[in-house]
Amino acid sequence: MRQSTETARKLDLVVAQPVTDEEIRKRWPLITGKMDGWSTVWNHSAGWVNARGALTQLAQAAQENGARCVDGPQGHVVQLLYDEDGKCIGAKSADGSAHFADIVILAAGAAAATLLDLKGQLVAKGHTVGHIKCTPAEVKKYQEIPIVAHLEGGLLFPPQEDGRTVSLPRYRSDNKDDGVPKPIDDKMRRWLSECFHELAGREWFETRLCWDADNPDLHFLIDKHPNQPGLHLAVGGSAHGFKMMPVIA
Ligand SMILES: Cc1cc2nc3c(=O)[nH]c(=O)nc-3n(C[C@H](O)[C@H](O)[C@H](O)COP(=O)(O)OP(=O)(O)OC[C@H]3O[C@@H](n4cnc5c(N)ncnc54)[C@H](O)[C@@H]3O)c2cc1C
Repeated sequence: MRQSTETARKLDLVVAQPVTDEEIRKRWPLITGKMDGWSTVWNHSAGWVNARGALTQLAQAAQENGARCVDGPQGHVVQLLYDEDGKCIGAKSADGSAHFADIVILAAGAAAATLLDLKGQLVAKGHTVGHIKCTPAEVKKYQEIPIVAHLEGGLLFPPQEDGRTVSLPRYRSDNKDDGVPKPIDDKMRRWLSECFHELAGREWFETRLCWDADNPDLHFLIDKHPNQPGLHLAVGGSAHGFKMMPVIA
């Protein structure tokens, strides 16, 4: 945290300011949990972005400019294709069809290692997410709560535009099973009660694991493959890749 404050200062960005418990209660009276042992900072320049909307618009713009999107078995790649000189020339899909290109970009997130030996560089991580369904009155009530980001606990978001949900990713939890295991469920609830005590006992509307791939330095790996001509990589979102979208696109 200290390091990122220092970086923001050096880059002349908004620097997060320390806030006391008293200031928190005064400014956001809906935060009723104890927040024991927290040392909290507030950054007014932080915000929430509609990732689904951004990706949909990007896909539309790409199609308007000639891109063709394929999904289902035709879009599910099972194998990269190489010519006899080792140049990557395309991909084979689950329906048996093949797609050829001068440049192939592997951008399969946490699943990238199913298509290419990444020499252990990427680690697939499942991030647990829980949604609570809020009533219309609660949507209104919690509309103005701040995004709460706790590096060990997780992130907590206000209800989203379409709806009625509060989202709670808990970071860095590996788990191969579907659903959310009980200890993680308990931890998510404990964390929720730290901030919004009255919501902590509510049933989850849904829980799931969302996968992303971590690089050792927690930065994207976007580059040509060093040994395989024709193949480029765009992997390793490292749990903070979405915010790079405007830079990458
Ligand atoms: C719960 C959660 C919260 C997050 N919050 C934030 C945040 O607040 N800010 C932020 O900046 N980032 C956040 N992230 C991280 C961000 O979402 C990821 O870093 C980013 O999506 C990674 O982009 P990507 O293109 O590498 O992989 P992905 O977005 O995972 O995209 C990979 C795509 O490849 C497809 N695919 C996989 N295998 C195949 C195959 N064989 N054939 C065809 N297609 C395939 C997948 O279906 C997927 O659509 C969060 C991630 C999670 C899980």
